[in-house]
This record gives sequence, structure tokens and C-alpha cells, in this order.
Amino acid sequence: MTKLEEIRAAEARLLLSTYDRSPVLFVGGEGVHLIDEQGNRYLDLLSGIGVNALGYNHPAIVDAINRQSRALIHTSNLYYHEGQAELALRLTERTGLDRVFFANSGAEAWEGALKLARAYAGLRRSEGKTVGTKFLALEQGFHGRTFGAVSTTHKEKYRAPFAPVVPGVEFVRLNDTADLRARFSSEVCAILVEAIQGEGGVRPLTQEFLAEARALASSTGALLIADEIQAGMGRTGKWCAYQHYGILPDVTTFAKPLAGGLPLGAVLCSEEVARAIHPGMHGSTFGGGPLACAVAIAVIGAIEKEGLLANATAVGGYFQEQLRALGRRHACITEVRGKGLMVAAELDSAELAKRAAAEMFKRRILINCTSETVLRFLPPYILERAHVDAAISALDEIFTEYAAAQAGAASAGGQHHA
Ligand SMILES: *Cc1c(COP(=O)(O)O)cnc(C)c1O
Repeated sequence: MTKLEEIRAAEARLLLSTYDRSPVLFVGGEGVHLIDEQGNRYLDLLSGIGVNALGYNHPAIVDAINRQSRALIHTSNLYYHEGQAELALRLTERTGLDRVFFANSGAEAWEGALKLARAYAGLRRSEGKTVGTKFLALEQGFHGRTFGAVSTTHKEKYRAPFAPVVPGVEFVRLNDTADLRARFSSEVCAILVEAIQGEGGVRPLTQEFLAEARALASSTGALLIADEIQAGMGRTGKWCAYQHYGILPDVTTFAKPLAGGLPLGAVLCSEEVARAIHPGMHGSTFGGGPLACAVAIAVIGAIEKEGLLANATAVGGYFQEQLRALGRRHACITEVRGKGLMVAAELDSAELAKRAAAEMFKRRILINCTSETVLRFLPPYILERAHVDAAISALDEIFTEYAAAQAGAASAGGQHHA
């Protein structure tokens, strides 16, 4: 039995069967490459689902971990440490929001945002305003797996097995401004969006839709909450995807790339909304620990020092151009979407999408297939054009072989009937 087979068998016996893992055992990484136990290198265009912004073994992260782990790893939130205010300053300066709460993951940050919206609505009611408790979320939206987060996540299969989920959530058709207006009322305490939906297939909101959401929320004092867990922290070429729209939400959430691979989440809000929170109302044992904060500060430093926002814009733009060119040679690509290094190619067949991701894996290039027909690319921000070229030529080969196989099957079928 190989090491991989041993681990597979042990996991099959010992773990809850939540994941359908690819058959590979990674033991290391360098730059944009992962390395398996036999020393094979994989070009990673997924970066641990948008987490490893600086790739693997980046000196800024390794140094921060070394330094901080020798000093202090955990204190709890009963005491001060050096990292939280320093990181919060960097985040507030880059987002346009005023205050921060630190959590450990995306879903947990999102829970914080939902609780903040309910608490703020309660505060407004106590001040004599009319504002309800309902959330408007978007179709195809994804916000995580905890109860509040799944309740605001659209896909039925994520919610149904755990019913009843948190009540008071209604879903609005994506980019349908009329549907948004029809469902909005003073009953609503918050409109929940991803400026660019991730899991839902890399789908950007239209300018009109996000502007309408902002205007409706402002008209009653409801909150506009932007989930930037996947798109935020520089992936799209700006710190926040909403900055491409020139629209400021009242609350936003970060997680995936925030600490470059360590678990860390953050909820940010305006000074006005922060009025709703008092000591004891919300908290976390691990959230914003010294180690995760030190690494997040180092990640932000490296993104700026190495010009990675500009790199995400340039290489991401090149990626989309190359995918569009590929689409002119292969009719199976029906649309190319994205911003910066959050990129997707929509295919005309779910079977092909699944197969293409599997074929890329065989060629040691990691991508994934989301929303059935969408090939998604969330590479590290250090990606170079040559890596894009490698991915495009592999896809070219895969689509060519698939088309040939389809044509072969069709003509064999034809002969059979003749
Ligand atoms: C991944 C993701 C989450 C959930 O984050 P976890 O860390 O997996 O809990 C929430 N919102 C968005 C937009 C995400 O992409």
C-alpha cells in the first residue's frame, strides 16, 4: 500500500465523509506550485480555495510565523496583544470602514455580520425607527456552512438536510433590480451581497443592481452587507470587490486570504453600526490571535511591497484575454467572467466541466469546477503570464481531444444507424 492509499483507507474509516478529495498527498509547496509525496509539482490555480494569496513558502509568512510563534501564539480576548489594533488599522484604511471584529473563518465572520445587522436593527427600533428583522440574500449566493450562513446561502442542497434553518431570509434573483425593489420593505434589516459571487460561479453584480441595493438600504436605515471573503483582500486587483463599483457597504467580511493560509476572519463596519455592540454581546476564544494577526499584517505588507494588486489586475486581465481567445477556437466556452485573479470560464456542458477539471489534474494543474458548468481559477496573487500560458495550452489540448472524441462517437453512431 502506498502512503496515499493508507491515508485514504484510514480517513474512510475515521472521518465524517464530508469531502470528495482528489487522490493526491501534498507534502510541500513553493511559489505557485504544490509538491506531492513523490516530488511531483502541481501548478496551483486554486490556492486552497482562494486562501494562499502569496503562494507557498513565502518568506514574509514563514518569518512572521517564526517570529510570532516564539513570542506568543494565543492569549484569548481577555487581554491585549500587539496585533489586533495594528491589523485593524490596516484593514480600516483599505476598506473605508471604521471598526473591526476578528473571527476564525469565513462563516464565523459572516455570522458576526448577521448578528450585527439584527443588533443594529434592534437599536434603531429602540430609538423609535421602523425596521424589521428580515434578510434579503441573493440567488446563487454562498456565505458558508454554519446555521446563519447556510440560511443565507441559496443552494437548497446546503440547507435542506439541516431544516429548519434560521428563519427570516428571502432570496432575490441575481441582478434583477425589479425583484430586489419588489422584495424590499421596512421589514428588511439587511441586504446581503457578494459584489462578485464566488461559489455561485464568479458572477459580478451589475453596477445598477449594487447601486439600487445601496440606495434601498439607505432609504430605511437597513444595512448593505458585502461578503468579501472570497473576492476581497486584493484578489480582484483592489482590496475590496465593491471598490470597483465605487459603492461603500455598511458592513463587510474578510477571511480566505486574510492571513495567507492561517485561519482568520474579520467583520468590518461603520462607526454608526458599531453603536449596536457592547461588551459581552459577541466574542470568540481564538479570534484575532497574535499569530494569525502577525501573519495577516505580513501578508498585507507583502501584497503592497511586491505590487501584487497591480499584478492581479495585469495577469488576471491576460488570463481572461487568453480564455476568450481559447473560446474563439472552442465553442464549448460560452462565457469568460471575472476580475483580477478571480476568473471563470463557463462551459456549455456540466459533463465537460467536470472532465476538464479532472484532465487538468492529470496534467498536474489544479482548478475546480463550481456551479456545475463553471471552471474557476483562484490562483495565488504572484501568478505570472507563463503560468497562464501553461493552463491555456492544457485546456486547449483537453477541449480538442474532447471535441475529437465527440465527433468520433457521433460518426460511429451515424455509421451504426446507416
Ligand atoms: C468560502 C466563503 C465563505 C465561508 O468561509 P469558510 O471559511 O469556509 O467558513 C463565506 N462567504 C464566501 C463568499 C466564501 O467564498
